[in-house]
Amino acid sequence: MNEIESKLKSGALNCLGCASPRCEQFCHGHLPHRTILSLIKQDKFIEASELLYSCNPFPELTLSLCDCESGAYGHCIKNKLGSPIDTKGIESLLSTYPLNLKTKPYNGKNVSIIGAGPAGCSLGFHLAKLGYGVTIFDENDFIGGAILSYIPRFRFDEKILNSVFNKLKAVGVKFVFSKRIENDDYLALKKKNDFICLCLGTNSSRKIPFESNLIEYGLSFLKKNCQKEQLSFPKNKVFCVYGGGNVAFDCANLLLNNGYKVNLLYRRDFSSLPANKKEIEHALSKGIGFAFTSVINDIEISNERLLIHTLKTQLGEKINGRASFVNTSIKGDDIVCDNLIVCIGQKPCQFDFLPLDLERKIDEKTYLCGDLLYGSKTIGDAIFDGLQLASIIDNNNGI
Ligand code: SF4
Repeated sequence: MNEIESKLKSGALNCLGCASPRCEQFCHGHLPHRTILSLIKQDKFIEASELLYSCNPFPELTLSLCDCESGAYGHCIKNKLGSPIDTKGIESLLSTYPLNLKTKPYNGKNVSIIGAGPAGCSLGFHLAKLGYGVTIFDENDFIGGAILSYIPRFRFDEKILNSVFNKLKAVGVKFVFSKRIENDDYLALKKKNDFICLCLGTNSSRKIPFESNLIEYGLSFLKKNCQKEQLSFPKNKVFCVYGGGNVAFDCANLLLNNGYKVNLLYRRDFSSLPANKKEIEHALSKGIGFAFTSVINDIEISNERLLIHTLKTQLGEKINGRASFVNTSIKGDDIVCDNLIVCIGQKPCQFDFLPLDLERKIDEKTYLCGDLLYGSKTIGDAIFDGLQLASIIDNNNGI
């Protein structure tokens, strides 16, 4: 047994093989951890790596970006005893095994995928392996979608995308970059292809009813600044970030890392913050200020500064793990800042060819995949949905 096999074996040894494995129920990437661990226990290391890759051909992405604390690792039943199975470590070791890049012979069917984010890349990889001719279009000049456009480089090494790109090229996926697909392009692609898959993500920010040049939205802020190591705002600027998800904490941490003062305004409480735990801890270590259970009620602008009036919210029952809330008429803190960055959620971009009701299949050839269909979820969810749509297209021949 080599060193990697020994580490895998000792990592899997204490898995209880639960009848109802919480590691699988909560895994963002929907990985069959219990079966993977069982294969490792039987010394079937290659089979375990093949099972991992069959669900997720890009573990380098999920290992880098998925929050396992709120997923498989954090929910392992043994976490209650303080010794959870290190599913992330196991995945990392298995990802050192070679990925099988053999494809089935070309089956005569062509698919155009619009959007080279995690869902589009996963879908393209699986379909290419099944013998489909796959072309992925993206308006950026490289793959990655939201990862490339919005995640700060201190949280993600861009080089990881090269590894994903090389895998896609190796299975024969073709790319058309720097191309935004408009209605005419979509209609032309529909004529030429057997299937069109829209993996467009949710790249439009939800708005607040206030406008000012001092108010910006999180996605636009990150698009301009996520690749910068140093921000060039005047050093004494104070920012308020409105929201509690990863976009909010990416904005906050980017600013905090550059020495700016940041207060975060959130509608729920600390325990309901949906951002990755690691990012929250980082912001705390950098001295972020918080105003919880508060919503913006009004904004006054004077002398190029914002005075944000808030109202308190009242938390109610938990829905999908997060407290619901209602606005009250109780006055909350007033917040003074130079700039407000609003990160209260995303919705799909508008394209003429998208119907109002977004369903998996919108016409005889066109499918939706990933965040566009389900709303903003994790990278693991997007990769898994690519696998799901590939099997829908292949098993049912698109029906
Ligand atoms: S929850 Fe933990 S102990 Fe149970 S099957 Fe999953 S990894 Fe093993």
